[in-house]
Amino acid sequence: NEKMTSDQDKVKKREPAEPAIFIPVDRSPEIQEARLKLPVLAEEQVIMEAVRENPCVVICGETGSGKTTQVPQFLYEAGYASGSGIIGITEPRRVAAVSMSHRVAKEMNLPTQVVSYQIRYEGNVTSDTKIKFMTDGVLLKEIQKDFLLQRYSAIIIDEAHERSVYTDILIGLLSRIVPLRNKKGMPMKLLIMSATLRVEDFTDNQKLFRTPPPVIKVDARQFPVTIHFNKRTPLEDYTGEAFHKTCKIHRMLPPGGILVFLTGQAEVHTLCRKLRNAFPFRKGNRTAAEDEELETSEGMRKFKKAKQKKTVSLPRINLDNYSALPVDEGDEDREAGIGDEEDGDSDLDLGDDTADTEEKADPSIPLYVLPLYSLLAPEQQAKVFRPSPPGTRLCVVATNVAETSLTIPGIKYVVDCGRVKKRFYDRVTGVSSFKVTWTSQASANQRAGRAGRTEPGHCYRLYSSAVFGDFSLFSEAEITRRPVEDLVLQMKDLNIEKVVNFPFPTTPSAEALVAAEQLLISLGALKEPPRAGSVKEMQRASLSSPITPLGRAMASFPVSPRYAKMLALGKQQDCLPYAIAVVAAMTVREIFEDLDRPAQNDNESTKLIQRRARLTQMRRLWAGQGASLMLGDLMVMLGAVGACEFARCTPKFCEDNGLRYKAMVEIRRLRGQLTNAVNSVCPEEGVFVDPKMNPPTEHQVVCLRQIVLAGLGDHLARRVQAEDILDPKWKNGYKTPLMDDPVFIHPNSALFKTLPEFVVYQEIMETSKMYMRGVSAVEAEWVPKLLPQYCHFGPPQESPGPWFCSSTGTVRCCRSSTFFRVGWQLPAVEM
Ligand code: ADP
Ligand code: MG
Repeated sequence: NEKMTSDQDKVKKREPAEPAIFIPVDRSPEIQEARLKLPVLAEEQVIMEAVRENPCVVICGETGSGKTTQVPQFLYEAGYASGSGIIGITEPRRVAAVSMSHRVAKEMNLPTQVVSYQIRYEGNVTSDTKIKFMTDGVLLKEIQKDFLLQRYSAIIIDEAHERSVYTDILIGLLSRIVPLRNKKGMPMKLLIMSATLRVEDFTDNQKLFRTPPPVIKVDARQFPVTIHFNKRTPLEDYTGEAFHKTCKIHRMLPPGGILVFLTGQAEVHTLCRKLRNAFPFRKGNRTAAEDEELETSEGMRKFKKAKQKKTVSLPRINLDNYSALPVDEGDEDREAGIGDEEDGDSDLDLGDDTADTEEKADPSIPLYVLPLYSLLAPEQQAKVFRPSPPGTRLCVVATNVAETSLTIPGIKYVVDCGRVKKRFYDRVTGVSSFKVTWTSQASANQRAGRAGRTEPGHCYRLYSSAVFGDFSLFSEAEITRRPVEDLVLQMKDLNIEKVVNFPFPTTPSAEALVAAEQLLISLGALKEPPRAGSVKEMQRASLSSPITPLGRAMASFPVSPRYAKMLALGKQQDCLPYAIAVVAAMTVREIFEDLDRPAQNDNESTKLIQRRARLTQMRRLWAGQGASLMLGDLMVMLGAVGACEFARCTPKFCEDNGLRYKAMVEIRRLRGQLTNAVNSVCPEEGVFVDPKMNPPTEHQVVCLRQIVLAGLGDHLARRVQAEDILDPKWKNGYKTPLMDDPVFIHPNSALFKTLPEFVVYQEIMETSKMYMRGVSAVEAEWVPKLLPQYCHFGPPQESPGPWFCSSTGTVRCCRSSTFFRVGWQLPAVEM
């Protein structure tokens, strides 16, 4: 060792605390064999060398190359979890955090106490945990508690290409934390893993890393995928198109799984149903629900109809003659004109193959059809990893969850609709809408890549190459598409006052940052800047407002600032458990079954009408009457949570009452978590979760309404007065300060018939109209007391404040002009 060259010397000096250990892992032979086939294994040496020599390393590799499952194991074996520090991996999706932790535990033959996961409302982390999978939001919360992340010796940011907001922020924060840790002699490693190759936002970003981190490309050993474009401009009905294409593949092409990309849950179910009918699967293997679905479904009805008509099946085509689908231009052109939309029964007019697939498909080779989307129950999701029953062909119908985070084994054919459903958010008006748009070239290529994992594959794009040429190259970073008040608050809590200067991989617009700070100021989370100087000066000042004690309390609650404010206020008048339940219900996605779900066929439609009526009645019951009804849709949520808990939250209760079981379970956990969070801010209160709480008293309902108003103050709307209605489009419409057009109470809302004068809403969704969701009634005289910052006090004609303009432009002030400055404690409730 004395003869060590000076070069080696330098290496040694640069990284003194490097572990030089090897921790053996006891893997089963089958697992070991499967691992050796993964491309990332070939790069283990290179990766670990780079990790040893650099604080930050970027790893790029196709989906399925083994990054997520293997890289944590490399670090483990190299001793990164052998000391006091552990290995953390962040995922943008909960599904991935949970399923990957299970997979890695299994591969390493270690219990889940050692390879664990933590997502917002659940986890199995113990003091023995060495490898911890978590959602990116969970790690962000941990940074708030311990900026140096001293528990970790290495952090892996997975799926960085997805550009989720939290991932972006984490990379920005870690770009500062890692050098700080090294400076303090507690070295930490950062690994950024990404699927597609656009990593320049991370590497060539002076704000992030002064010396660009090395990028290791994992040779994907991807098999060639032949891309087949549609010739013509695509139909609107891409689900129908996907059906035909899938049928063709199944009937004509050699074995191999089919993966279909659609945009949403409803489409996924529609297609699954159609495919199951076209190629029925042995009854014994079907679940009761699937049986019922089949019995009532369109395909079965048609199948019976077809039998009555005694349709003669045409001879089947010999599979051996086809290496790929005959998707030539003529075919596609011919297909274009045909199709009886009314019947949903379009023909597949392709040479010998002239057949109505639904009616004449040879059902002798069953298709094992599985749906996959993020709201699907976990045990249903896990099915895609299991081998399909012998003698069947696997067909997974998925949303873009299957694009990168989960790799489904055995896929040879991909059918890509080329679209994606995205939430759009209008920064000015705050209106959200889900729109189906074209995806990006990068993600279309990702989808195609799913077909070449185990052997050469085929990707059928349901759009033309010209359309593909018009796709944007990459998907936009999420941070540029959504409000950022939650991030700004989190950052302020980390004492990052000038959020504009934060090293974002992609910086949100100044406009979005200003809007966020202003909302936080009005919620009392940030200090109000001095009201002096020009608008520009004030804006600049308001971009660096320090956080208030209330803001710190709010930042410690794992919900967005509006809801955090409600929790902070919930202590009042013994209604904290209710406030927590309401907030939990508002933050969980889609707790109610959609009453407007279209029926699949006549048969189902009678059933559905009955069910709709029953569920509507149930929701009316939950909303209550009189005082409680005024809490509106939030009372329905509260009633649903209460009723569900009284019934012990069983799947059956949820199914019978139109509640999504997974959502209800999440609400229960979130209630526990929020209660703990509130308790840790003000422990003397001693609040505990009471799973079965009695309905709130009238007094408590009034408190709740005020709390909701204080949190959703910027979402206040006023019904347009009859005398102001000049244009019929304003009938029953509500005016909000920022929009020129009316917004409405949805027919399914508890307050649809009541039409209170003032309401607050959770959000505005644009569907057939601009509808307010989560509506609750408020009393006019509360507004100046609770939200003086939004009110104009004085004669209406003098200064037209933004708030209570009628459609005709007449300013209507609040009835009360008493000025109450309130802190973050509500004044006593007036009954
Ligand atoms: P990457 O992160 O590069 O996309 P992964 O590490 O997720 O790759 O996947 C590597 C391999 O492990 C894939 O072939 C995938 O099919 C397999 N795999 C992942 N999860 C499971 C699981 N739960 N069961 C069986 N195989 C799995
Ligand atoms: Mg992965």
